This record gives sequence, C-alpha cells and structure tokens, in this order.
Amino acid sequence: MITPEPRPGLRGIEPYEAPQLDVRARLNTNECPYPLPEGFRRELAEAVGSQALNRYPDREALELRAALAEHAGHAVEGTWAANGSNEVIEQLLLAYGGPKRRVVVFEPTYLLHRRLAWIAHSEVERVELEPPWRIHADDMVRKHRHGHPAVVFICSPNNPTGNAQDPDIVAATAELAKGELFIVDEAYIEFGGASMLPHLERLPNLVIVRTFSKAFALAGARIGYCLTSPQVVEDLRRVRLPYHLSSLTQTAGIVALRHAREAASILDRVREQRDRIAAALPGLGVEAFPSDANFVLFRPPGSAAQVWQGLLDRGVLVRDLSAVVPGCLRVTAGTPEEVDLFLSALEEVLA
Ligand SMILES: *Cc1c(COP(=O)(O)O)cnc(C)c1O
Repeated sequence: MITPEPRPGLRGIEPYEAPQLDVRARLNTNECPYPLPEGFRRELAEAVGSQALNRYPDREALELRAALAEHAGHAVEGTWAANGSNEVIEQLLLAYGGPKRRVVVFEPTYLLHRRLAWIAHSEVERVELEPPWRIHADDMVRKHRHGHPAVVFICSPNNPTGNAQDPDIVAATAELAKGELFIVDEAYIEFGGASMLPHLERLPNLVIVRTFSKAFALAGARIGYCLTSPQVVEDLRRVRLPYHLSSLTQTAGIVALRHAREAASILDRVREQRDRIAAALPGLGVEAFPSDANFVLFRPPGSAAQVWQGLLDRGVLVRDLSAVVPGCLRVTAGTPEEVDLFLSALEEVLA
C-alpha cells in the first residue's frame, strides 16, 4: 500500500477544535448569547434573495470594506475583510511570515496565533508573561533576544486571561521596529480595554484585527476584518484566494453594520454578567482573574479537569484551559439564566 506522507510534524499536532455539544449552557467559545434582532434577519433574507449567485462576488468586497472603514473611522484603502479574523491572520502570516521568519507571541495567549504561524511555515518564538500578564517595555526587549522578528502578536484584551494591554507601550515599540509587523488582535475590544486605533495613522507596520464573531453576534457568518496601512492591504491582496469572501458573507456584513447600534446595546448586558461572575466566584473559594472581555478565567480548587466534567454533567460547557494557564477554566458571559446555571452547578461541584 502506498500511503501519502504529510508535511513533517503534521500528525504531531491535534486539530484545533473546541467541543460542540448540545447542552443547556454553551459557555466555551465566547459567542454572544443574544442573536441580532428580527429586523436584521428580515433585511438579510431580502438582501440575500436579490444576489446574483451565478456570478462571482465582488473580489475586492468594496461595499463591505467601505462600510467597515466608516464604522471604524479609517480609510477604506487600509481596511480589509475575510472569513473570520482567523483568516485575516492567516493571510497576514502568508504575506509576512514564512520559512526562516520569526513570529513572536506573548504567552499565555490565543493558541491560534501560534498554530497559524506554524501553518504558514514560520518559526515561533514564545515570550512567557507572569500574572497579571501585562506586557511591559522590557518584555518587548525580550522578544529581540534572537534578533528582529518578522511578526509580533499582541492580543488585547487577551484570550484566555482577559486582561488588556497598554496601547502606548505597544505603540512605542512598534515605532522603533525595524520592518516587523505588529498584529494586535482586538477580538474583544468592544467589551473593554483601550484600542490601538489612535496610533494607526502614524504606524504603517500596525495591523488591528477585529471580528464579528463576539460583540457583533455573528460567529456563524464568519466575518473578520483588519485596519492597517494601504501597503499591508496591497500585500494581503497578493496572498488571498481569488473571490475569498462570498457574496453571502459580504451581504451579511453590510446588513449587520446597519444594525451596529443595536449590536452595541447588547454589550452592557454581557459586561454585567461578566462582572457578576467575577464577583461571585471568590465566594465559592474560586480564584477569578479580572477581565476586560466577555469571559472570565478562573482557577477552582482541585482538579480543573474534574470541575470541567462536573459542570458538563450539569449541562454547563466551559473551556478547559489548564494546558495554557495551569489549573484554569474559562467561562463565557452568557444570559443571566445561563450564568445562574453555571454558578449553581459550580457550587454543587465544589461542595
Ligand atoms: C474568538 C477570537 C477570534 C475570532 O476569530 P473569528 O475567526 O473571527 O471567529 C479572534 N481572536 C481571538 C483572540 C479570539 O478569541
């Protein structure tokens, strides 16, 4: 039998996937617990119905990018969209990573950054941070210990720790950079923390990556975007697949942006539940880390795996992040009812 030989190391890694289980409270992937309102659905159905799907989509996604640029207050030439922010990041790494090019990540952080760097055949350099995981100027120096990297990732607010970084420290380092691209993942910026946006005009090596999957309540639509300099967008056009963004996706994004104000009105409710979780956990003997995002990282006493299973047995699915931050689980701020269920299940498990 002739078996195909995959790229070296491929079978040494597991597929990146969180469990998708049918339970009462799915609090493991940081989605928004509320869908966009009925008006959005109606408009979207109508807009999709009038699409000419026998034709390729607008390759440059100009209408969507113009709407995103307006939404963010940035130039359309420096605004780019793709199928989720993960695809934006993959495209950035295809353009700026590659063999013998180093990608720095500050850990603990979002595992996909490292994974996507590997997919793009880049070398990964991990700089470890200590709780409360704030990046200081000297951490920025540490990333240079093997010379200048090609790409530096910052996640703010950071997943899974929840803390935001200081934009001024990131900007000060980016200003002194010699050719490296600074990718700041702002997937949770609508929930808290300060954006890098005010620094964008002055820093052509800065990319702010954002998503519709969290605050915009559209994880199912797969829309992400970035705000950067026109040169970076030009480079992304060289690596993206032709017609990478379907007409259906572009339409969903355009219609969703018309409902941006309604989406924003949900944020307070989510933050309220996040703060409620963070306030309740210490009373259960659980260490909770402060969060600027829509989730809370927490460390229960005893085995994280056992607590995770105990919660699941009671219909509550959270994320086991003990491989990333020792002993820790992460819970998404859901509806008040879901949070009730989470807190009472956790109390039972720990009893
Ligand atoms: C959830 C998340 C994303 C979102 O990815 P999409 O591909 O846009 O769904 C990006 N970055 C971080 C840090 C996240 O936690």
